[in-house]
Amino acid sequence: MKITEMLKNNRQMLSFEVFPPKTETSFQSVSQAALEVAALNPDFISITYGAGGGTSRYTIQLASEIRKATGVEPLAHLTCVSSTHETVARQIQLIHDAGIENVMALRGDIPEGGEAGTYHHASELIRELRASGYDFCIGGACYPEVHPESCDQKADIAGLKMKADAGCDFLTTQMFFDNHLLFNFLYKIREAGITIPVFPGIMPITSRRQVQQVMRLSNASLPQRFKSLMDRYGDSEAAMCQAGIIYATDQIIDLFANGIQVVHVYTMNKPHVAAAIQKNLTGIVGMPV
Ligand SMILES: Cc1cc2nc3c(=O)[nH]c(=O)nc-3n(C[C@H](O)[C@H](O)[C@H](O)COP(=O)(O)OP(=O)(O)OC[C@H]3O[C@@H](n4cnc5c(N)ncnc54)[C@H](O)[C@@H]3O)c2cc1C
Repeated sequence: MKITEMLKNNRQMLSFEVFPPKTETSFQSVSQAALEVAALNPDFISITYGAGGGTSRYTIQLASEIRKATGVEPLAHLTCVSSTHETVARQIQLIHDAGIENVMALRGDIPEGGEAGTYHHASELIRELRASGYDFCIGGACYPEVHPESCDQKADIAGLKMKADAGCDFLTTQMFFDNHLLFNFLYKIREAGITIPVFPGIMPITSRRQVQQVMRLSNASLPQRFKSLMDRYGDSEAAMCQAGIIYATDQIIDLFANGIQVVHVYTMNKPHVAAAIQKNLTGIVGMPV
């Protein structure tokens, strides 16, 4: 089922994200954790794709297994930065042949010290997905705290508008830790004429090590409230995990309370974190928007 169809039920929804294995040898263990996340029965589940080709082989395979084993609708990620038109066309065909209807169209990070090849922006991939003739539901990425390649938010939103105009059905945000950033971003993109649904992306931070990773990868800023929590609980694995789950839950409830229909949780392959957040949202997910 297409995500755009699911939105018509006008209910508050939760999506989770998992990553595929990098190698054949890790397939079993990594897939098992991803399947456990899917078994929690989120409204849909996204499966990431390695921009450099690393994990790309397994995205479609894992998406198909998840649907077969759990019935949860997959959203398969696809990047284009290190691809040719031929490899992209082959992936599009494989996605269609696997019966996957939802595709997250991404450019991927330009390799360090390198430059973009055939593809420069996700909008080019979106146009190719549209031109394929297969009736995909297509998502794109957006950045409440500005993509690092944009000089300012105005330029970033201008790029985002081109992506929306290329045929994107919805947008999922980069993680953020202060909901005001999201509300401010939504105001600005609506003003710029971007009207498609936006799914805020929330990352539960459950260890100090994870914070360093997140800072490196996402450009997200940490509010003082979160820093205090990390200072106090960062040395205790159990306390930090619990505090991070509650912090993320609090963000999610506030988003739903302010009219957001779908919240995307960067659960990665951590079933216990996904389960704890879902439990905290019992009675909230599924409510009318
Ligand atoms: C929700 C989400 C999921 C992700 N999943 C993955 C994944 O599975 N695998 C992975 O490798 N990476 C993933 N990423 C990371 C993403 O690939 C990187 O952030 C990448 O650097 C940008 O990808 P994009 O699709 O946003 O690119 P683009 O949409 O091309 O945007 C990149 C920059 O170019 C600007 N821009 C966009 N279109 C135009 C245009 N037509 N003309 C001029 N400027 C333009 C934008 O404003 C932005 O500054 C994900 C990111 C998010 C937020």
